[in-house]
Order: sequence, then structure tokens, then C-alpha cells
Amino acid sequence: MSKILITGGAGFIGSHACVEFINAGFPIVVLDNLSNSKEESIRRIEKITGKTVTFYKADMRDAAAVRRIFEEQQIDAVVHFAGFKAVGESVAKPLDYYENNIGGTFVLLQIMREYGCKTIVFSSSATVYGMHNPIPYVEDMPTSATNPYGYTKVMIEQILHDICISDPEFRAVALRYFNPIGAHKSGLIGEDPNGIPNNLLPYIGQVAVGKLQQLSIFGNDYDTPDGTGVRDYIHVLDLAKGHVSALKYAKEHAGFMPINLGTGHGISVLEMVHAYEKACGKPISYRIADRRPGDISANYANASRAKELLNWQAEETLETMCEDSWRFMQQNPNGL
Ligand code: NAD
Ligand code: UDP
Repeated sequence: MSKILITGGAGFIGSHACVEFINAGFPIVVLDNLSNSKEESIRRIEKITGKTVTFYKADMRDAAAVRRIFEEQQIDAVVHFAGFKAVGESVAKPLDYYENNIGGTFVLLQIMREYGCKTIVFSSSATVYGMHNPIPYVEDMPTSATNPYGYTKVMIEQILHDICISDPEFRAVALRYFNPIGAHKSGLIGEDPNGIPNNLLPYIGQVAVGKLQQLSIFGNDYDTPDGTGVRDYIHVLDLAKGHVSALKYAKEHAGFMPINLGTGHGISVLEMVHAYEKACGKPISYRIADRRPGDISANYANASRAKELLNWQAEETLETMCEDSWRFMQQNPNGL
């Protein structure tokens, strides 16, 4: 039976996607080098679904290891999450980011070509809209980047686009995620960052659980209703389901298609803090700090292409996103 290769399937979004693919009846194989995740997340996917997961601890840059997977398993599509994702780190270590994200994708695509595998769903990001597009972001706006991480997403989208032009049978969907948060309802899998979190939700969660003292809110003088930054936060479960719909779409449609996965609504930092306080039942200590360099005031998706092409839309609410994040934090205060 043909299977789906999920790269980065032990990570935050990938682990939730594994659960959704298994629940939708797709046989999966996971490749992850565990550079930013733990094998425990594979055990937890198994616990949630009651199914055994075929897992290869391997690096996507290792052509022999990737080839071995294609030899041993009948892979007919790839859902590609693996990569480094920290914007600040990418500025400090650009070569590492280009080598892992682009180099790794390159190896994967070459081996897909060797084995005649022509379907890929790729984890892109709203970061490809750069600094200058008006909101809400629509898929046909020009893409650009402001840091090496963002450039890896812009370039991989371009590579996929070019392959689709060269091969009329190739199909690539680039899912442009907005801000994924939340966790599985079981509390067994969720976001487990190494070190001090850069992103808002894991930071708030660690303040709530007592691991960090205080949240710094980066600026309250933006041109937004309460002055704090606005983003389109999307529940990771909704996001995971979007991948199942995207893979079904890709199987039916050749060519390159970028699709936003967001709710279409913006939420401010202060609104998020208050929603989390409600979910965890305690105050979140915060202070107003300077703006973070490189931040934009607001972004959110135009989510109509996903509705039209994938029949997908976000269903979770701000309340459930915070409740589910909090359940995961409480059950796993020290991560997985
Ligand atoms: P994550 O770090 O939790 O997951 C990525 C996984 O890829 C990790 O398990 C890591 O061990 C693995 N990996 C990294 N390099 C690898 C390599 N060379 N070989 C094999 N495995 C490797 O990150 P995530 O939040 O789940 O993000 C998944 C994807 O979505 C990434 O491509 C990321 O850039 C993209 N994305 C994430 C966000 C977000 O806010 N989380 C937003 C937009 C896009
Ligand atoms: N933010 C904040 N304090 C933090 C982390 C983030 O005020 O410790 C703000 C940030 O300025 C932005 C929003 O929260 O307005 C989301 O930031 P995150 O880094 O999670 O996502 P991104 O900026 O990449 O969309």
C-alpha cells in the first residue's frame, strides 16, 4: 500500500498532522532527526491514535538515509515539515538555515524524482508576505523576506514552482501558516520549545506555569486598537486538518498552489494575555517593553482560497486555543 512520508513529524505541527492523517486513514511513515523534538512525541502519537507509527530517526540531508526510506516503503506523497524555524537564530547562523532548510529540501526533492514521487505539501509561512504588503494577505501578493529563515521559505516555494513548470505531472501545495498555537485535546502533544521561547504563546504558558517570571510585551504604540501587535493565531488542530485537505487537493491537481492557513482574524498581544488568564485562572505578569526589531504591527490572512479549494476553515476559538495550550502546559510543565 502506498504511504505518505511525513518529514519533521515528531515536531510541534508535524505530530498533530500525523494524528490527523492516521485518523483520516492514511498510512504514514515519519522521518525526523530529533534536532528540535523528542522520540516521546512518536510514542504519544501512538497513544492518541492506538496505531503503531513507522519512524525513521534520520536526517533529510542524508541522501542514503532518505533513499533507504523510499526503497523500504512505497512513498507516493510527502508532507514536508522538517526544517529550522527560529527567525533570530537564522540571522545569527544563516549558513545553517540555508544548508538545513534548502539543502535538506533539495535532497528530498531529488530522491522524490528518482522514485517518481510527484506530490508534496510544504510548510511555508506568512513570513513570505514580507514587510510591505497590505493586510489581509492574499496568496497572489508578491513574496519577499527580511531574514534568512524567511528567504528559505520564499526560495523553496520558488523551487517547487519551477519543478511544476518543468514537469506537468508534479503537484505542490505550499501552505502558508499564520501563527499556530494550541495543543491536542488530550494534552499529550503540544509545543515544546528548547530554551527560552521566542514566540508569544509558549512564553505566556511558561509564565503561567511559573517557569518564567514575566512576559515582555514588545511595544504598545503600534497603530492597532490597543497599541499591541496583532496576529492571526490558528489552532494547531485546525492547521493539522488543513494538511489532510491539502494532500487530497494535491493528489487531484497538478501544478503549484500556495494557500494561506489562517483564521482571517487578528488578535492583539493584550487580548491574548487576557484570554490566557481566563483559561488558566490566574494573572499573567507582564510589562511593556520596546518594540522587537523587525516586527510588523499587524497581519492576518485572507482565508478564502483555503475555503474555496480545500473546503477548509478554522473551527476552534481563541478560548479553546488557550484552554488546550494550558492543558498541555499543566500536564507537561517540563516538556515531553
Ligand atoms: P518543529 O521544530 O517543532 O518541527 C520541525 C521538525 O523537523 C523537528 O521535529 C526537527 O527535529 C525536524 N528537523 C529539522 N531539521 C531536520 C532534518 N535536517 N532532518 C530531519 N528532521 C529535521 O517546528 P514546527 O513549529 O512544527 O514547524 C514545522 C514547519 O512549519 C517548519 O518548516 C516551520 O518552518 C513551519 N512553520 C512553523 C510556524 C510556527 O510558528 N510554528 C509558522 C510557519 C511555518
Ligand atoms: N510578542 C511579545 N512578547 C514576546 C513574544 C512575542 O509581545 O515575548 C509579540 C510580538 O511582538 C508579536 C506577537 O507577540 O506582536 C506574536 O509574536 P510571535 O513571535 O509569537 O510571532 P510572529 O511575530 O513571528 O508573528
